[in-house]
Amino acid sequence: MDKGLDATPMDQLSGIPVVRSVRAVREMVRRWRRCGETVALVPTMGALHDGHLALVRGARQAADRVCVSIFVNPAQFAPHEDLATYPRDEAGDAARLAAIGCDLIYAPTAGEMYPPAFSTTVSVSGLTEGLCGAVRPHFFRGVATVVSKLLIQVGPDVAMFGEKDYQQLKVVERLSRDLDLGVRILPIQTVREPDGLAMSSRNAYLKGNERAVAPLLHATLQGAADEAAADQEHSAFRTIADGAVARLLAAGFDRVDYFELRAAEDLAPMERLDRPARLLAAAWLGRTRLIDNIPASVAIRG
Ligand code: AMP
Repeated sequence: MDKGLDATPMDQLSGIPVVRSVRAVREMVRRWRRCGETVALVPTMGALHDGHLALVRGARQAADRVCVSIFVNPAQFAPHEDLATYPRDEAGDAARLAAIGCDLIYAPTAGEMYPPAFSTTVSVSGLTEGLCGAVRPHFFRGVATVVSKLLIQVGPDVAMFGEKDYQQLKVVERLSRDLDLGVRILPIQTVREPDGLAMSSRNAYLKGNERAVAPLLHATLQGAADEAAADQEHSAFRTIADGAVARLLAAGFDRVDYFELRAAEDLAPMERLDRPARLLAAAWLGRTRLIDNIPASVAIRG
């Protein structure tokens, strides 16, 4: 077994070293850097699926060493949300990571991340105010704070984030630029089930018929994007969105938090599809909230 800090044996899972403190993760990264190696960080909340693994594969291509963090961040859950029931499977996660190659798992405790009297937060204005930020006001402050901390703790050259959480990706790009964190943020395309459902750790919550209805979120986004692209008049997107929301509700979704067209770069609201855009939606199926998004662009006519 590899000798860790202070010559104490280092924990391993499926042969991957596991560290749980800021000091230990920094020491590992320092060793790599001494050998001239570059480092990629893949931040996750665990319960890893093929979407996460796509980030890890991207990380392996982007840097010599890959560190995957696993931390279910209490600061991004509101009291009524699913922190207690969020799926956790560290041993399973390690086995999946070992199969594709990972150099280090960083799984800090909540106490390590938020020591007593912790009182500094990161909030990104503008970008976080609509979409998921409108319905989960606590969420992006929790995400921005923990991602800033992880990037500062590990100090990677690159960090991978999924387009699945597109608003989060934009928030992370912005904070790393604004705070001069010196890390390249690399986006990875959404990985989907064969029926189109975006992979998510929360898909495990879907019960019975909900799983059959869930792919309609992606299909409806795609349908709306096609409709908008085909509309030579660039008429108001609101009409298309209203139709899409009605179809989701008729198909069995219980509530639609938003179904919106936004500018791809800065998420500015768009009334019509007249420049590169992103179409984003969040909707509830029973007690599960699904989010998804796709690119939308004006059809190029020959
Ligand atoms: P999470 O564990 O849900 O916090 O996600 C960790 C990272 O994996 C985030 O950057 C997510 O955007 C990304 N991710 C989650 N699901 C997918 C997916 N289906 N495809 C690509 N990336 C994903």
